[in-house]
Amino acid sequence: MSGIGVSADSVPCCTCTTACGTRVNGMEHSGTAHDEGEPRLDVLAESELSRSGFRLAFPEALEIRYWRDTAADRVRELRFIILWGATLYFCLGILLNLIIIQNPDWREVAVQLAVPSFAALVMRHLWLRDGVAAAMRETALLACCLFGSLAAILVVAVKPALADLHDFLLAIPPAIFVLIFVRLRFQQAVVFSLLNIIVYTLALFSRPEINDSDSTFLIGFMAVLLFPALVGAHTFEHASRRIYLHGLLDRLRNEKLAAKNTALTGLSYTDSLTGIPNRRRLDEVLAVFLTAPGSSGALLLADIDTFKAFNDRYGHLAGDECLRQVAQCLSSRLRRGDLLVRFGGEEFAVLLPEAMTEEAIQTAERLREAVQALRFVVQDQQVNVTISIGIAARKGLNTAEALIGAADTALYAAKRSGRNRVQAALPGYLKQAIELRF
Ligand code: GH3
Ligand code: MG
Ligand code: MG
Repeated sequence: MSGIGVSADSVPCCTCTTACGTRVNGMEHSGTAHDEGEPRLDVLAESELSRSGFRLAFPEALEIRYWRDTAADRVRELRFIILWGATLYFCLGILLNLIIIQNPDWREVAVQLAVPSFAALVMRHLWLRDGVAAAMRETALLACCLFGSLAAILVVAVKPALADLHDFLLAIPPAIFVLIFVRLRFQQAVVFSLLNIIVYTLALFSRPEINDSDSTFLIGFMAVLLFPALVGAHTFEHASRRIYLHGLLDRLRNEKLAAKNTALTGLSYTDSLTGIPNRRRLDEVLAVFLTAPGSSGALLLADIDTFKAFNDRYGHLAGDECLRQVAQCLSSRLRRGDLLVRFGGEEFAVLLPEAMTEEAIQTAERLREAVQALRFVVQDQQVNVTISIGIAARKGLNTAEALIGAADTALYAAKRSGRNRVQAALPGYLKQAIELRF
């Protein structure tokens, strides 16, 4: 197929709405798999939207796409949350100690505040880089959140001096902070909460100075704070996933429309009988070509000889087959960058953007010989046709009309001089000089 033309090759692979990752026209396709058996993402998304219930995870294909699509936003969100969260936690911790707790042990306070904040900042640096896989990032996030909140509990559990209610109260905020702001995925939030309660309970029982009623109060207090945070985590993730599904459906619909548009555009530039580009394509390419600097280039107009007689003898269907065969033959003899179009009826045009007159004549000769040598079967008979070609070089011809007109005149000269031959038009500047003279 010729290089300039819109060919069947550039029509999009499909209007798929699944996760294929195919490259279409140089762009990564964001749809999904072509496998017949695999459900389409839009169907999955719609069924998820109509589903009610507690379950958060999507079916596998959709879940993979969800994680991929939300990865960049999630990283951005976490970077923001962790930086401001750590700062806020640190400042609020100091304020709380100043206002609520009389004569706090500032060394202990510094450890309690610094450990989770520092852990959060290290995690931000290590795990929120580009290129860290989403599953790995979330696992590391959970691990770091656990490290931060459990460290706050363990610091109280192992402190050498007597621990009191206030110490244990201050160990609760990191866990709540993580659940509310870091927005762990719900399942992770459950694991996180359970571990916090277990470690907190063990820490309390490891300190005999805290009596049972205070321990029960503290554990109850932590549970009462964690429970709504967990419900919130579920509600939030559920809502975010639904919002994502609506956005995904919109995007898939737009992709589908864009793919259809591209396909339609391709079709509007393609001749339906031969599959090669049509006259409209030539007009557009010529308009650009003729305004570009340079004087190289030539247009060939090829016309099948006595085609009416061919039709009369073998019928129009055979004539159609002949047109396809000739188009295929011409197309296979051209170089990349040349444009072959069906100009109309039984005429073809070839734009050779780089050629000067001599080279254009050689190419035209090659094409003429190729068609002459072409044999195809019609009604059980081997038949062949010939073509005549008119050539117009671009030099001195600055409009499409002038170029086509010159090639047409040359074509008629070729017909008049006996058909099955190539005729070049006089160069435009020479023709002008002759016209001026006579
Ligand atoms: P010349 O050598 O002077 O070009 O003679 P010709 O018979 O080829 O030229 P003419 O203009 O008299 O006839 C062109 C014929 O091409 C007439 C028309 O029926 C036929 N034709 C045009 N388009 C198609 C097509 O799409 N399919 C078929 N089968 N025939 C077509
Ligand atoms: Mg004709
Ligand atoms: Mg003809």
